[in-house]
Amino acid sequence: MNTDTITAIATPIGVGGIAVLRVSGENSVLITQKITTINLNNLESHKLTFAAFHQPNNPNDIIDEGLVTVMSTSSFTGELTVEINCHGGYMATNAILSALIESGARLAEPGEFTRRAFINGKIDLTRAEAISDIIHATSDLGLKNAANSAAGKLSEKINNIRRKAMELASTIAAEADFPEEVDELDNLEFISLAKSIQISIKDLLNGFKTGKILREGIGTVIVGKPNVGKSSLLNALLREERAIVTNFAGTTRDTIEEFVNLRGVSLRLIDTAGIRDSADTVEKLGIERSVSHLETADLALFVVDISGELTSEDLEIAKLCRNKNVILIANKSDLPAIYTHSTLRDKLGLTQDIEIISTSTPSTGDILGISELEDCIFDKFKLGEISTDNVYIFRERHRETLLRANISTTRLIEGSENGIPRDLLFVDLEEILSCLGEIVGLTIQEEIIDEVFANFCVGK
Ligand code: GDP
Repeated sequence: MNTDTITAIATPIGVGGIAVLRVSGENSVLITQKITTINLNNLESHKLTFAAFHQPNNPNDIIDEGLVTVMSTSSFTGELTVEINCHGGYMATNAILSALIESGARLAEPGEFTRRAFINGKIDLTRAEAISDIIHATSDLGLKNAANSAAGKLSEKINNIRRKAMELASTIAAEADFPEEVDELDNLEFISLAKSIQISIKDLLNGFKTGKILREGIGTVIVGKPNVGKSSLLNALLREERAIVTNFAGTTRDTIEEFVNLRGVSLRLIDTAGIRDSADTVEKLGIERSVSHLETADLALFVVDISGELTSEDLEIAKLCRNKNVILIANKSDLPAIYTHSTLRDKLGLTQDIEIISTSTPSTGDILGISELEDCIFDKFKLGEISTDNVYIFRERHRETLLRANISTTRLIEGSENGIPRDLLFVDLEEILSCLGEIVGLTIQEEIIDEVFANFCVGK
């Protein structure tokens, strides 16, 4: 049980109509009572009540007016909680926060409310993680995936696997302790149950790539020599799709990523600044950039000008694109073409299975080929197969733990098939149970929990 009471502003800092502050812990009512004249002990749980908020113990010095809600332990954190709605903006919100701290609350650490919900058994670890994923979603389907997880779909899957592993473990334990009384589980039945555990684990692992796409978008880099139309293609994509989700500075100072909505999934366009400033980028830098981005991108859009002769620069970039996930963009298709798709592939030394999309992205005139490009990406990444009812893992923590569980399951199956005594297989089952328990947060070290919550924002 946490003895200290925490508080934070739960809404984003900035100018807005309303802001929400949270106070959670056994003294939350006592502390909030110092800044309002409303008798909080008389309030019905989960009901909004109008209240004025004042400086600690000074009812004449009013800070703001708003709504207050007391929540008994059936709150999100599982603790006595008070929520305050006041006017948005910096001044009132921060003044109330300071008043609460002065009255005895401590400023919450990032993710501390959700951490308390986890510690108090209100949610398991996958659901706690999913709350952060909902906040950080960048696409409709990414949001749906996080919401499925927050609703407990991932825990349900993990717990189903755990139940089967538990059944095997308890059979082995019973066989060892009461050999006469227990009908030995038929070996074939044992192996079949172990195999069904493995199928479920692999099923989750196989969804990892899709989960990553849902979470981070398809990391896409546009490459090509200067003047082929990279920047025009980028603008056409941004304009046609209309929905730029967000812009934010990437890991390096000059990297900018922009998100384009592609039927519910996002296309994360890497280093768009690098494309935009191509006018004064020395060619060497352009090639270097292509190399590093091609290494990390999920998809490369390699743009060539189909109306002009291919040059050594095109060939050099084509070389970098080999063995990568590439779509060749034959741009400037409004002008007389020098090459057919087939000769273009040959000249560039690319294999015949590389998709080519003809586009036209002039600054004036019709933009053509964007929806064909969209179809092509959609098919390439099998986006049509994504089920909104399913839940796809994308966290390294989940993947790594499931991989460990998978190795132990293989050992368990092979051991049973080779007639290794069951009691010697117990250690593999223990490892499987421990891995699955780690995912939902049952058997987990404090440092891992710290890491999970370190990426949350304050107030969540
Ligand atoms: P980048 O250097 O590869 O980014 O190329 P830009 O996008 O800056 O385009 C170079 C020039 O080609 C600009 O004058 C564009 O207007 C023009 N351009 C781009 N796409 C097309 C196209 O499809 N058809 C025609 N005719 N011109 C284009």
